[in-house]
Amino acid sequence: MDEAWASGTMLAEAVIELMKAGKPYTKANLEEAYVRRRRQSWVEEEAVISEKSRDGFTLNTLLGFIGMGISGLSKGKVNLPGKSKRPWERIPTIEEFYKGVIPETEILQIRKECQLKGEPLHDRLMTRAGWPEVPLDGQLLISQQDALLMGGKVVANPGYADHVTFADPYYCQSCREQVCTEICSGQAITVNPEGGVPLFDREKCVHCGACMWNCSKPNPEDPEQTNVNFRAGSGGLHSAEN
Ligand code: SF4
Ligand code: SF4
Repeated sequence: MDEAWASGTMLAEAVIELMKAGKPYTKANLEEAYVRRRRQSWVEEEAVISEKSRDGFTLNTLLGFIGMGISGLSKGKVNLPGKSKRPWERIPTIEEFYKGVIPETEILQIRKECQLKGEPLHDRLMTRAGWPEVPLDGQLLISQQDALLMGGKVVANPGYADHVTFADPYYCQSCREQVCTEICSGQAITVNPEGGVPLFDREKCVHCGACMWNCSKPNPEDPEQTNVNFRAGSGGLHSAEN
């Protein structure tokens, strides 16, 4: 059984427990019935053991798998160090990434056009660089994230935050990559046509956490985190990030 199934089962058990006791699904009750259960479970224990197990993937795929094996066999006591854990240290600038493929002057022009239209930049750049477009012909298999979206919005229980915020808006204003607008599973974070801080639509967020893992700036209050403050609520507690 994987962590999502196990956490889901624990959440279901907690809800049944509250139903039987006639208690509402408030934060205080869920903390006691579900969050405590989850923190004391093998899911939490294994999340701690595997915290650094994937660091090798920052070097290459093979070392990533070897690192996972070493972490698993040593129960997290020995880990293969990666190049860097922090997203903002591994995400190159657009100009660096497309060096020799798209001239900087053209990137600047495409940037301006996308900004004016409020469109993501990366799609345009990938098309320009020769990546084949994927037509939306209704024949594609759906991805896991699509399935999640079709399931609808994940609603946080009362008392839990239900949103993404940007820790330092000035970082977003100076951010040229804005990877969060590209990576967002629910298209909840979009380019702001007026420039600066991206727009966020709470109703579309499915609490996947992708924005947090792919933001290209550090959090001013915690250098181990990114500039995205992600508050998933109890429904998103299956993630090791919570
Ligand atoms: S959230 Fe991160 S990636 Fe998105 S605009 Fe702000 S700093 Fe850039
Ligand atoms: S958690 Fe972030 S990436 Fe995922 S849907 Fe919400 S805003 Fe988008």
